[in-house]
Order: sequence, then C-alpha cells, then structure tokens
Amino acid sequence: MGDPDKRHLYDQYGESALQEDGGSDDMFGGFTPEELFQMFHGEDVPEVDPHKVEDTVYPLLVSLEQIFRGETRHIAHIRQIVCQDCKGSGGRIMPCQMCQGLGTWQGQGGGAGEGETCPRCHGEKEVPSTSLRCVTCRGLRTVTVEEVLTVDIPPGVRHFEHLVYPTAGDAFPDKKNGDIICIVVQVPHPIYKRSDMNLHVEKTISLRECLLGVNWTMRHVNGQMICIRSKPGDILSPLSACVIPGLGMPSRTDPMGRKGALIFHFTLILSPPQLLTLEQQQGIASVLPVTPSGYDPCEVTHTTAVFVDPDQLPRP
Ligand SMILES: [Zn+2]
Ligand SMILES: [Zn+2]
Repeated sequence: MGDPDKRHLYDQYGESALQEDGGSDDMFGGFTPEELFQMFHGEDVPEVDPHKVEDTVYPLLVSLEQIFRGETRHIAHIRQIVCQDCKGSGGRIMPCQMCQGLGTWQGQGGGAGEGETCPRCHGEKEVPSTSLRCVTCRGLRTVTVEEVLTVDIPPGVRHFEHLVYPTAGDAFPDKKNGDIICIVVQVPHPIYKRSDMNLHVEKTISLRECLLGVNWTMRHVNGQMICIRSKPGDILSPLSACVIPGLGMPSRTDPMGRKGALIFHFTLILSPPQLLTLEQQQGIASVLPVTPSGYDPCEVTHTTAVFVDPDQLPRP
C-alpha cells in the first residue's frame, strides 16, 4: 500500500473500499480517489446534526452486468458501539455507595434498606465510578466491533444513487446512531455506455457492411450472446443509428420489469484505398448508378485526379 491516495482511501473507508472487483488495476472504477471524495462530499456540505453521530460512507463499485441483474454484497464494516460494560459512561461500574448495592434506600436519615428507589443508581444497584476508568473501553465510552453489512443492490440502480441504512453506523452514548450510506459508482464499461435505461454502442462500419449489411455477435450485459443483423438489402448511411427495444437496462422502479433500448451509433470508416482490378471495377459499376454530368462530352477536357493525404497539404 505505497500509494498515498490509496492509503488515504483505506483509512477513510476501510478495506472494502479497495477490495471491489477482485483487486484489478482499475480498482476505483476509473475514478481517481479525488473524484470519489468529491462525489461523497459533494458541492454542498450537509448540515451537521449535533445529536447524531457522523454517517459512514462507502463507495460501491458496480459493473453494468451487476447493475443489470442486481446483487447482494457483504461489506466488512468496522463500527463503534456503546460499551456495555460501563453502559457508555466510560467509568468502571461499582456497587452504589448510597444504597450499598440494594437499589433502594430509606431517605436522608435512614440510609440504605427497604424503601424508595435509590436516587443515585435509580435502582440499578451499580454506578459508574468517576475516578476509575472502564477497562473494556478504556474510558472512551464506545468499543469497536467488526460487522458484516449486507447490501442489496437492486437491478437498475442509478449511478451515484445512495443506498441508506439508517442508524446502522457508529453509535455514541446519548446520540442517535449514524447511518451507513453506500454510494453506487457505476464502473465504465468497455463496450456499453448507459444513459438511464438505454445502452449505447459506438460502432464503426466498413463500406462492405454499409452496402451488404451487418452481422455482429457480442456479449450483452445480461450475460447472453446476442447477434445483431441488418435486414437483407438494407443499405446503411455513413452516419446512422439503430434502436433495439427491450435490450437496454432494467428500470429501477418499473413494476412491469420493462427494459430500455440498445442503441447503435454507426460511423462509416473507409479502409485505405486499394487498387481494384478492371473486373472488380466493372462489377461495382454495374450495381452503382452513374449521375450524368449534363455537359457535351466534346466540350470537356479530361484530367486524372491523384488523391493524397490531406494532412500533407499546405493549409490556405
Ligand atoms: Zn466501557
Ligand atoms: Zn443506589
């Protein structure tokens, strides 16, 4: 753990912050630790409630595949709870002197014995010592425990969505427990980009695919192999798109379980020019119509154009 940024993230959010996705190189899902901090703390600092312990925030790195199906994850969570041995007082528990450990007393004159509830220990028979520290919490009033938090990531969960577990965070005597807030961080996918319920794919197509159609097989985030084909005879324009309804992401809220669309954005990329044989030229010419120039051929002087790389030309 040489990297100071990772060290810092570790200190702040514990080991689970570093253990997502099996410890790949891209452990922050393509986000820098600074970006992660920004998304946790945001632009506006939330109001601090003096009667509540500070919330615990965990980043939850999730892939599109995990978002598609939803999953349950277990996070090792280090938590402060009120020390039970001193009941959060920080002092060692001693027998109550006022009632001599009976819990009741007979009033000012009478001292210990049957009577009314002891006003010092409130009938508890014990009180925390003000001079001797509790050995369990060393006077800190809370102790550290390790718990496993079970986080349910619902299908279709949104990027930066907060999954809140109220009062599951740190405790302190006489304060309301802090919450645990898991912030969903959608890890960028190498093929698919997500916009709400839709999935987008940028795809370059060759001239051959433009004219003769496409036939691609790819793995969908639902885990299945899908094959995308254009209708026979369809010619794609150099900049076009196609929409396949139902192959997008699940909705976070739709009770019908409807899914968004898979949208392809095509760009025609012509491969480097190659010399065609006369036969190939005639073959292509036979299927592509010629636009007549409208001029008298006797008036026209012919010049052969030589095509060059435009980057090599001087700029006007
Ligand atoms: Zn204690
Ligand atoms: Zn007492």
